[in-house]
Amino acid sequence: MADIIQLLPDHVANQIAAGEVVQRPASVVKELLENAIDAKATQIKLLLKDAGKILIQVIDNGIGMSQTDARLSFERHATSKIKSANDIYKLETKGFRGEALASIAAIAQVELKTKQTKDEVGNILKIEGSKIIVQDVISTPTGTSISVKNLFFNIPARRNFLKSNAVETRHIIDEFQRVALAHPNIGFSLYHNNNEVYHLKEDNLRQRIVAIFGDRINDKLVPIDEITDLVKIKGFIANPKFAKKKRGEQFFFANNRFIKSNYLNHAVVNAYDGLLAKGYYPTYFIFLEVDPKTIDINIHPTKTEIKFENESDIYAIIRATVKHSLGQYNVAPLLDFNRDTSMDVPYDYKNKAKKTPNISVNPNFNPFKTKNTKTQKPINTSSWESLYVDKGDVITDNIKVEIEEDVTTNKQIELFSEIEEKIQAKTFQVQRKYILSSLKNSMVVIKQNLAHQRILYEELLTKITVEEAVSQQLVIPIEIEFIKQDVALLFETKQELENIGFRFGEFKSDGIILSGIPTTIPQDKLVSTLEEIVEQIKSEVPQENFSQLDVIIKSMAKNLAIKTGKILSSKEQEEIIDKLFSCKEPNYSPYGKLIVANFSYDELENKFL
Ligand code: ADP
Ligand code: MG
Repeated sequence: MADIIQLLPDHVANQIAAGEVVQRPASVVKELLENAIDAKATQIKLLLKDAGKILIQVIDNGIGMSQTDARLSFERHATSKIKSANDIYKLETKGFRGEALASIAAIAQVELKTKQTKDEVGNILKIEGSKIIVQDVISTPTGTSISVKNLFFNIPARRNFLKSNAVETRHIIDEFQRVALAHPNIGFSLYHNNNEVYHLKEDNLRQRIVAIFGDRINDKLVPIDEITDLVKIKGFIANPKFAKKKRGEQFFFANNRFIKSNYLNHAVVNAYDGLLAKGYYPTYFIFLEVDPKTIDINIHPTKTEIKFENESDIYAIIRATVKHSLGQYNVAPLLDFNRDTSMDVPYDYKNKAKKTPNISVNPNFNPFKTKNTKTQKPINTSSWESLYVDKGDVITDNIKVEIEEDVTTNKQIELFSEIEEKIQAKTFQVQRKYILSSLKNSMVVIKQNLAHQRILYEELLTKITVEEAVSQQLVIPIEIEFIKQDVALLFETKQELENIGFRFGEFKSDGIILSGIPTTIPQDKLVSTLEEIVEQIKSEVPQENFSQLDVIIKSMAKNLAIKTGKILSSKEQEEIIDKLFSCKEPNYSPYGKLIVANFSYDELENKFL
């Protein structure tokens, strides 16, 4: 038989790799701005045409490149920033994989003009789909100008999947703001279709925030400042009186890189506890500085997630720092740093009388009985509501634990023997994040947030696809604020949203009116769930099996799932484990993250040899 394996031609390999780095115009903007910063520029100009779909140009006054470097900069893995793998751990620059320019040049028409101070003339290079078309000398100012034209010109499928100009512009502005906030000492400007959108002078952080978000934010900013061995914290938080109904201005930076962290966000929200009315989000600009060795920056260039070695300590320090500032600036009425904060009660529960938990268990239930195996009922979903009503750290009010009788599939019978083990050994929660349990041959560690995402995802999927989605008609329609672009996006997704139980009254320029909502979403989670759906649709990379409905269900599961940081009762822990292992895919979250880590007893035993 003839050989069937072939090597992909370089330009195809480059295009595929480019897909990872460049998802949309905003990804190019981020890479080019970061390169300019690494080149020590003090003035950076960003020019856009048609949301970056026609043109993205970044002009800097940095160190420029020599003729050879200009040519080399477009080679894959060409970087001036690291020489050995070890350098990664000491990294102070933004990029280091040497992939951005090569990737961008594979899927766009690129023009580079660059000159170093010592040189009389500069160099120009034009590249299209990885092919060099022009290479010449040119008269140009010191620094670098890179134009990226007609992104995805040679991959129509990708180009067609770009969102409306409004949505793509919003993404670019998000990236621009993040970079500009992280570098107030650099001047930035942004022009869209020849109109000046931002003109940010070199300044201090407070002035930079004001220049981006408007004069009115100035009076609301409360400085934060803390130095510990683990982390230095500085920046600003906003007076809770000015909290927003939308989760807009929340920025974390680690070593001057924008990061996303739900976990650390929780620390801030927690510090504001009692000061924010329900449905309001705090505004903050928090800069963390840590030893680069103690963080694991996901080296994928487009990711903003990051892992801290001492995450829970950093959580506690952030929480205390924010609380301290709120108190110091007389923003918070009551502060007591020594009290036991594990008993903190969320705002809207403070004034309610405590109720004795009402746990209803079927006394006749025997998980090990195997009769009735033929009557297979759908899994009971009535009790999961009790899990997602996130009451902070307090476990009160009707925690209902029901274990359905007759639910005995073959898979579950197998599992029951494992569950038997588990019931003996019980479960154990660690760091308010993991559930530990022992199975027959191994010990398992389960991430509670991801496990619950998986459970809700499968339940919602069944509800929506197998059963008819049930809509709850609202007596008084609810109006929810959204910016114009987001309303447009919800309108585009109307059909899918109706399929799952939303009913729309009106799409307005500043929000939507709902006349019905899915019964699967509790009212107090409605706004955040819709916001999450909008965010996810925006950030979705279209794939072959792309389904808006799936994106929506995933967003719902993510939003409704119990979070890291929530203390779970033993019953709740057990319920999660039971339900997780009745899922079709218990090992991975809907977003593909690992849920369960297994440690075999042999492995454990080996530790003690
Ligand atoms: P990385 O930033 O990961 O090194 P890139 O593909 O983004 O990889 O850039 C490759 C190289 O091109 C950089 O390491 C740098 O030497 C050079 N370069 C890119 N942009 C600029 C710029 N604006 N000014 C000077 N040099 C640049
Ligand atoms: Mg780079």
